[in-house]
Amino acid sequence: MARYTDADCRICRREGEKLFLKGDRCFTEKCSVERRKYPPGQHGQRRGKLSDYGFQLREKQKVKNIYGLLEKQFRRYFEMASRKKGGSTGETLLQLLERRLDNVVFRMGFASNRSQARQFIGHGFFKVNGTRVNIPSFQVRPGDMVEVVDAKKSHAYIEDNLAKAEHRGLPSWMDIAPDTRSGKITHIPAREEIPLDVQEQLVVELYSK
Ligand code: SF4
Repeated sequence: MARYTDADCRICRREGEKLFLKGDRCFTEKCSVERRKYPPGQHGQRRGKLSDYGFQLREKQKVKNIYGLLEKQFRRYFEMASRKKGGSTGETLLQLLERRLDNVVFRMGFASNRSQARQFIGHGFFKVNGTRVNIPSFQVRPGDMVEVVDAKKSHAYIEDNLAKAEHRGLPSWMDIAPDTRSGKITHIPAREEIPLDVQEQLVVELYSK
């Protein structure tokens, strides 16, 4: 499958803000956005004002990159969101993205970022409702239990990640039990429970043209 292989920090510098793609490094002074506050590339420091289309495009790229998706996959989520009845398309889009298993594993604190979560899931480290799932795009539902396979065994990376995530605060739409390395989805998150500084309405406007 095709995937993005360039440096993650370039993506943040392109958007001019921290997208927290790398985990711990994002919270230190080594963060590239802190050190170089201009877009990457030869002409990065000479870029002009954005048009309305430019704003919509940048916002779409931002959301897509936060969840680590390619255009085709992201567009598919938008189409699913626009087919759903009730609620705003932008909010539904974010809810679908939040319910991806890789995002859930990250939000529960088992992984330091979504890309590491995808790797863990691919290696079969997680079960959903007792069944091993190795598909990062798997959609979790309210009531689903996500747990580490062989939770009694020591998983140094996961333990370290959990300790750091607890310190940063855990989401309100899941019940997380770090001791048993498991977590339950209590409900679908409302917009205000999704800690993302994005204007999803701009994405809807872009794709609705
Ligand atoms: Fe983005 Fe994190 Fe890199 Fe900073 S360290 S530029 S927030 S990925």
